[in-house]
Amino acid sequence: MPINFIVNDPLTVDSVPMRNQEPSANRKTGQAGFTFVEASPAALFDPGTEDFVFWQSREAALTAIQTWEILNGPLKKWGPQTANPDKLDLLPDADDDLNAYYDRQSLSFFHHTIGAETFFSGASTDVVAHESGHAFLDTLRPELFGTNITEHGAFHEAFGDCTALLTALFDQGTRQALLTVSSDLGSPNFVESLSEQLSSAVKKAAGPNHPAAEPRHALNKFKFQLPTTLPRSGPPATLTSEIHSFGRVFLGCFYDMIRNIFQNSSTLDEAALYSAAQTAGKLLISGAQQAAISPRFFQSVGRAIVIADQTAGGTNHQAISDAFSAHGILLGTMSALMPKASLAGPAPRFPGKAKMLSLDSATLKDIRRRIEAPAGSKFSFQELTLGDQEVVEATHHREVRLDQDSKELKGVVAYAPEPVLVGGVLKSAAVFNMLPDPSTTEDEVHAFVDTLLSNENISFDSKRRVAKAAAITGPNKSPLKYTTHIIKLIRGKKVLTRVRYL
Ligand SMILES: [Zn+2]
Repeated sequence: MPINFIVNDPLTVDSVPMRNQEPSANRKTGQAGFTFVEASPAALFDPGTEDFVFWQSREAALTAIQTWEILNGPLKKWGPQTANPDKLDLLPDADDDLNAYYDRQSLSFFHHTIGAETFFSGASTDVVAHESGHAFLDTLRPELFGTNITEHGAFHEAFGDCTALLTALFDQGTRQALLTVSSDLGSPNFVESLSEQLSSAVKKAAGPNHPAAEPRHALNKFKFQLPTTLPRSGPPATLTSEIHSFGRVFLGCFYDMIRNIFQNSSTLDEAALYSAAQTAGKLLISGAQQAAISPRFFQSVGRAIVIADQTAGGTNHQAISDAFSAHGILLGTMSALMPKASLAGPAPRFPGKAKMLSLDSATLKDIRRRIEAPAGSKFSFQELTLGDQEVVEATHHREVRLDQDSKELKGVVAYAPEPVLVGGVLKSAAVFNMLPDPSTTEDEVHAFVDTLLSNENISFDSKRRVAKAAAITGPNKSPLKYTTHIIKLIRGKKVLTRVRYL
């Protein structure tokens, strides 16, 4: 039996009409899949009904996976730190809220009634693909989930938005409709505009100045600024250090990359657009995979994208660097391939198995001394490839005390990654990136935490807060009650911990 499927967003059916189509097959054993809630058999359900939202969110999530697999090959498992790497729960309507989230256990969507209309976040393919994007990135770089550095979180949000953009562009009917309204992708359109209906509902419920009261736009002119210097919160048009807002800088770079690659095609048709989106999508994934986890992560990913392109022939170099520089991010990439200083100890070895990866104790001791890490502090290791240079990313997790950030954070600490890229020069270890600077790490963490506080993203007493928020009703009260962080007791320490990405 066919289902009704909204291809993009409930508010864009004038651009791409709702379709009658056979539902996609369930994921097979050996593929990362979903646990579904009980639902009626497939049929042509009306939008706004529970059965519709089930089949709609299911189809949108499976479509996002198809997009991902075209770019990155078979998705066999969810992230290594998920509750069940074989299956995520897909919850089409978990609660009353105007939101959606990924929390390493589920993709969760919500409903909220305003006047006579009930809004379902799971009815938008944009929203479902965004949350799926968080889950995809979590398979590549699980260490990005919980870091307390603004650009890491903002990249997670941007990656969700890029996934929504790619999921739209991988649909032929969408590309055809898009090119009739914006032949060069350079004018505002229904594809670059994300989550139209959910943001319209937020506007109705919380007013036009709520940060989420407008769709996020991939076609934008936001320029990079140090997030430590930005306002902590603000209306949709303002660039702030809140991660959804700040992520728009990277989203803009990515969309412009697609536009520039498309502009260089010999034919400016739907097939060329598909090819440009695939090229950009693959580069994005390489960039996300190989970028050092430094505080300047947007630039780090951009550089890794240029290096990935260079390795593949370098045909898109100008398209990429123009896209990033239009948003204030300069990519001087060749220097990334040069050693910066030698370190104690021998050149690192690459055993082929991530678990075996390590560095000589003399090298670690030398790194600790240089970055002022406490004696004996632990590192995590990951192998990265810069062009044809293999390096070990040795990440120190710096503990930052939050006593001064707010009275509720007395005695709480947060951890932030400090990466050191170690490669070999002849037989010696050498460092290939700028060494992390402890005061930069501290400043970044305090700005990040200050932003969480300003946006009420930390639950200090989750049960009470949720109950209180749920009790708030009325047209001007925000129904957005899910926070992203909690204080968790880990080995006797109170640690600021991310529990979900919205
Ligand atoms: Zn998100």
